[in-house]
Amino acid sequence: MRVIVVGAGIGGLVLAQGLKAAGVAVTVHERDRALSDTGGYRLHLTPEAAGVLRRRLPPPVFQALLASSTGSRSLRQFGVLDHRLRTVARIPLEDDGEHLMIGRIPLRRLLGHGLGESIRFGSEFTGLEHHPDGTVTAVFADGTRETGDVLVGADGARSRVVTALTGRPTARLLAAHGLAGRAPLDDAVRSGMPDALHRGPAFAVAPDGVAVFLTLHDPSTAPVAPLACREVGPILEPGYVLWGVVVPAGTATATSDVNGPSVLASARHLLRDFAPWTRTLLDRSDPAHATRFPYYAADPDADLTPWQVGAVTALGDAVHAMPPTGGRGASTAVVDADVLIDHLTRSGSTSIPLALHDFQRAMARHAPPALRESLQPLLWQQRTSGRLGRVFLRTALAVAGTVGSARR
Ligand SMILES: Cc1cc2nc3c(=O)[nH]c(=O)nc-3n(C[C@H](O)[C@H](O)[C@H](O)COP(=O)(O)OP(=O)(O)OC[C@H]3O[C@@H](n4cnc5c(N)ncnc54)[C@H](O)[C@@H]3O)c2cc1C
Repeated sequence: MRVIVVGAGIGGLVLAQGLKAAGVAVTVHERDRALSDTGGYRLHLTPEAAGVLRRRLPPPVFQALLASSTGSRSLRQFGVLDHRLRTVARIPLEDDGEHLMIGRIPLRRLLGHGLGESIRFGSEFTGLEHHPDGTVTAVFADGTRETGDVLVGADGARSRVVTALTGRPTARLLAAHGLAGRAPLDDAVRSGMPDALHRGPAFAVAPDGVAVFLTLHDPSTAPVAPLACREVGPILEPGYVLWGVVVPAGTATATSDVNGPSVLASARHLLRDFAPWTRTLLDRSDPAHATRFPYYAADPDADLTPWQVGAVTALGDAVHAMPPTGGRGASTAVVDADVLIDHLTRSGSTSIPLALHDFQRAMARHAPPALRESLQPLLWQQRTSGRLGRVFLRTALAVAGTVGSARR
């Protein structure tokens, strides 16, 4: 069996690792020139996704991944703060296994470890052709073509593979959008940092509904010491505080730039009524890494794979894009890849269309809950804008504060 994967993102790379380990011939086509050519956000991996990586990656790679992450110690609670960064609620996070938090660049580079020539960089998928013998040909922008038994679209939210199958992507652009950046964990940022960030991420919400997600990356909380990695070196990032402004629907940002100083200026304007530490955070952030990004989401109640099953399928954001407000997109892509590896490599006489059909059925069970959970904060934010909403928010925060203090 020859499998062609489009997209060396999180899901595509896990899929390639698992197929390669099972002896399946796999090629990954990626339009980027290198694995580090990507935005540097930090991703949360659920215990389920971390478990998949533990099983699917060569042990020294997984060890390096642990040493490049921060573990459950940095995720003991989720804080709800007001715009003055006072804690109004602490939601203790269940001790349900090892959560990992890791930068997108280190994660992608480690997932690509050992795949070598199997990844073709600068290879942009443009279309596909089905053949009567059940095989499929992928066509690329540079005129090259590759034929295989299975083609998997792991090409993210605006998937060209899914578009080739259905005429349009499954995700739509949401009215809310995000601005994000990060500030180094220097003395200025450490001083005045809300205590809550030492125990986990926090969401600070202003009465007008503008909210900022804050999370601390402190490499000293890695679950494995870098020196314990003898075969594959960890990819260490210096400490930082990541911020992500969730700009509600109907609130314009002053810029349409995708990154740079004007993104930071917009964040400053939106967070002007927040506590002064927020300004320090923005002032210390590198404008080159400040990014404005759209949110996409698929409909959790729709058929997520509305195409006739044959030799082509898709996974991850290509099927069920979700906004980053739930921190579930990467983990869901990892779980998709795991299930697809199982269905493609299980022994027996299962045909490829049947294997892909079973995979899609499994994905239709596990992806919609993650999608709904990710949309929830945006619905909540939408309800809190406007006069009535502000009353609702004050009441909700007061109630959350009571619950939070009762739990403490
Ligand atoms: C600010 C931000 C924060 C986030 N935080 C979290 C978080 O904390 N936890 C979490 O789980 N998720 C988070 N996410 C979401 C997460 O990044 C995605 O859900 C996840 O990467 C999806 O994996 P994927 O493999 O489906 O797609 P991707 O990782 O997006 O990979 C798609 C790949 O396909 C390539 N590609 C696209 N088109 C083509 C083409 N035509 N030809 C060839 N290659 C192509 C792209 O270059 C890319 O490498 C966040 C997202 C953002 C924007």
